[in-house]
Amino acid sequence: MKRTNPSSRRGFLRRGAFGSLAGLFPFSRSNASTAVERSSKHVQRYVPLGRTGFRISDITFGSSRLRRGQDDLVRHALDRGVNYFDTADSYTNGASERVIGQALGGERDKVYIASKTHVSAGASRRSIMGKLEASLKRLGTDYIDVYFNHAVNRIDRLENPEWSEFVDRAKQQGKIRFVGMSGHAGNLIECLDHALDADSVDVLLVAYNFGQDPAFYDRFTRSFDLVAKQPDLPRVLAKAKTRNVGVVTMKTLMGARLNDMRPYEKNGASFAQAAFRWVLSNPNVDAVTISMTSTARIDEYLGASGVYEVSQQEFELLKTYAHLNGASYCRHACNDCESACPYGVPIADVLRTRMYATDYQDVPFARSEYALLGDAAAACLGCSGKPCQGACTHGLPIEQLCEPTHRMLA
Ligand code: SF4
Ligand code: SF4
Repeated sequence: MKRTNPSSRRGFLRRGAFGSLAGLFPFSRSNASTAVERSSKHVQRYVPLGRTGFRISDITFGSSRLRRGQDDLVRHALDRGVNYFDTADSYTNGASERVIGQALGGERDKVYIASKTHVSAGASRRSIMGKLEASLKRLGTDYIDVYFNHAVNRIDRLENPEWSEFVDRAKQQGKIRFVGMSGHAGNLIECLDHALDADSVDVLLVAYNFGQDPAFYDRFTRSFDLVAKQPDLPRVLAKAKTRNVGVVTMKTLMGARLNDMRPYEKNGASFAQAAFRWVLSNPNVDAVTISMTSTARIDEYLGASGVYEVSQQEFELLKTYAHLNGASYCRHACNDCESACPYGVPIADVLRTRMYATDYQDVPFARSEYALLGDAAAACLGCSGKPCQGACTHGLPIEQLCEPTHRMLA
């Protein structure tokens, strides 16, 4: 399928935002409503992933919650055209990698597999190589297409020379083809800038959704800066594009409180599809990765493939979601509260793991991600909560959230 000039995507959308009388933003980059079915259950578009040379499905398979016995989900997505599968060594204690390996075993040359490992500032090359070897074994393959330094939130984790040496060695040995950085909290912007300026990544996996995008609020409120204070995020995505670094986005559903939205979804409209379309309409985004937890969800998600203009009805869904959830959703990478805690609690990361438990309702996953932070909010147990009171520029009561998160996930 032919892809039109991506640089026109968001510009067209913007012009259409106020100009549509017909219910659709009128300038689609592909006349997509006629070129492809608007809500197909099959991948409609494959996109180049930066400098890798891969052409991946615009909707990709996220597997953070994939458990033993769910091979059918992987096969279902594969049958519907998904060709990029994202996993990590920490997901479901390695079961995610095992299931993907089993399900894709006979199709290895037709798919791209991305995996990740958490590399600390002091990790040795040898230990990182050990983690890679373990992932390869679980995946039943001898190479990983994109290998990510997982959930990077501090620059010293990127500056670890052992990571660079590991990358060179693993590439030479053919165990990894390309390298990436994933990030969704903490000093995300600084880390993304650092990785791009050092030319140390081929692909970024980054949290990005309509609720974090100033351009979204620009449509219906003059005080967007009260809601979305992350103008640097679109800037960094644009920078990645100029460096020919692939961009895959995650957390695109802004907390994925899908059930909240069902009463508002009329005439076949889907909040999830609207959210994906918003992100994919940014010309600097290549693809979306989303945790696929049922065949019905896969079919729903793939309905967004290939059609990136957001209809007026879909835009209203996004607005409704933002109104319902904006006051309780942590824009993890805004990090305005970073210096509020005298004990160094990484508040944004802690609240991210809380989201996994309360919004995704996946406590085991939340626990495994919290464990990677190293008992991060233990200090809250003995704290009055006064230092972080009022520190959230989006109005979240941090002092009421971090301690219970620790109690729930530690
Ligand atoms: S409650 Fe205390 S320890 Fe916890 S984040 Fe707030 S200031 Fe830090
Ligand atoms: S708690 Fe508030 S200030 Fe801190 S990262 Fe989340 S949204 Fe930003």
